Amino acid sequence: MTAALCLDCGEMKWGVLLPCPKCKTRGIAPMEIGIAFSDHHYTSDTLNQLGIVIKEINTHCDEPTKCLLVFLHYISKNVPDSPSLDLEVEETQEIESILAKCKLPSVVFEESKMWGR
Ligand SMILES: [Zn+2]
Repeated sequence: MTAALCLDCGEMKWGVLLPCPKCKTRGIAPMEIGIAFSDHHYTSDTLNQLGIVIKEINTHCDEPTKCLLVFLHYISKNVPDSPSLDLEVEETQEIESILAKCKLPSVVFEESKMWGR
């Protein structure tokens, strides 16, 4: 079974497409994003740290789709080869201002060996 990060609440769950035991959602993120934040891609240490990032973002933002955008923006700034987001200027400014309020850990992005490249 795959250990995956719940992109809605930041808890770890089993299976990318299974509902999260904590927030009971399957998540709003597309499947490929779910897989990118599972132990197929990152170590569980990294996923746990990213969970802290999601929880912190959620305390400053209460709209799930926006929280996800803020998180993905954070990822695109911190992971060199991540796809960049196609955002409106105003959207980027709003996201940046939410990120600026967050006290984020410095996440070590450690790729899991299962990724197999
Ligand atoms: Zn959840």
